Amino acid sequence: MRAIMTQLILKDGKERSLFRRHPWIFEGSVARLDGRARTGDTVEVVDAGGRRLAKAAFSPSSQIRARVWSFDPDEIIDDAFFKRRVAAAVARREAMPQLRGQDGMRLIHGESDGLPGVIADRYGDTICLQLTAAGPDKWRKAIVGALAKVDGIARIYERSDSDVRGLEGLSPVTGWVHGEAHAADDPRLSIDENGVRLGVDVVAGHKTGFYLDQRDNRLLTRALAAGKSVLNCFCYTGGFSLQALAGGAASVVSIDSSGPALAGARANLALNPQLDASRAEWLEADVFEALRVFRKEGRKFDLIVLDPPKFAPSAAHAERAARAYKDINLLGFRLLNPGGDLLTYSCSGGIGLELFQKIVAGAAVDAGRDARILQRLSAGPDHPVALHFPEGEYLKGLLVQAD
Ligand code: SAH
Repeated sequence: MRAIMTQLILKDGKERSLFRRHPWIFEGSVARLDGRARTGDTVEVVDAGGRRLAKAAFSPSSQIRARVWSFDPDEIIDDAFFKRRVAAAVARREAMPQLRGQDGMRLIHGESDGLPGVIADRYGDTICLQLTAAGPDKWRKAIVGALAKVDGIARIYERSDSDVRGLEGLSPVTGWVHGEAHAADDPRLSIDENGVRLGVDVVAGHKTGFYLDQRDNRLLTRALAAGKSVLNCFCYTGGFSLQALAGGAASVVSIDSSGPALAGARANLALNPQLDASRAEWLEADVFEALRVFRKEGRKFDLIVLDPPKFAPSAAHAERAARAYKDINLLGFRLLNPGGDLLTYSCSGGIGLELFQKIVAGAAVDAGRDARILQRLSAGPDHPVALHFPEGEYLKGLLVQAD
């Protein structure tokens, strides 16, 4: 006999997004809760006509009131469920020839891997885990247990300190949750990204320690860099800069406002004696200000990378963010030599590709430059985007060449 479960009853018509397999159920779609459920508990989702549709994680403080674990209402959400989903996500990546040889990759990309609110990034034998919603917070032990069984994993660090947890009524959780802790500067915690060694600080670095999503775009930069003067804005720990050096750049100027990020970048350069460190210049500064100074000085570059932080976390911030994107792209075009390449990105969920392209086009016009898109860019294949979850496609980029 089926155990009696608490049911989340939807308003009439609000089942449609579930039929499209979108995993979020918003507060406004919910008619009532039949039974009791605490934060993170599994509930059965039922439409106004009484049809059972899904199993979901209940989150009473969030506008996203529930996130679907399974569209099969009979699937049991237990330790075995998480084992299956984690194993499937890992197998998916093992089957991708594009990821062969990479020891740093995203193993679980939330909703797009059927695990809403779960991010797991692998760096060699270490996983950095980020739980951002009430459901996964409740199932921490099961998720950690499943990840610990992944081939070659020795330790797991939890980095659940993202601001979005506040919206779920959850406080930050950080610390080693599996295996033996090791110091952040332990050389074992580094990855080989296409021939460049990069240290990763899972404890104090940004997000889970490193921006794995830009791997393929860093490789593209390397392919374009030979003999060029390169400017890498928002360089963090120097991923793009080091690949540009590996590609034979004549010079690489890198800017970030964070001292610790730049210290990480210099340490990364030291890990790669094959690269010519004398061609690298690091600048601790605000990009918006530094680029204005460069303009006054008449400095120009052949290849410019603009990879700013998330200016628009949601659509509500889109307008202010659009101005910031316009500003740096305008400055970028002004500093670009004739025939130069601009690699420009936005990781804002609130700014879609179409809008981003318009912003960049507006910047080129204001700079008085004719330019064309040579390539549209996105995150790598270890960041899949479920077709029913377009929100998963947060990173967009353009390779633009200006006359
Ligand atoms: N391109 C990097 C990731 C960039 S993350 C990589 O491939 O790893 C964004 C970076 O922008 C962070 O390191 C942050 O410190 C920096 N940053 C944020 N605002 C800034 C500003 N106004 N000026 C300079 N750097 C800034």
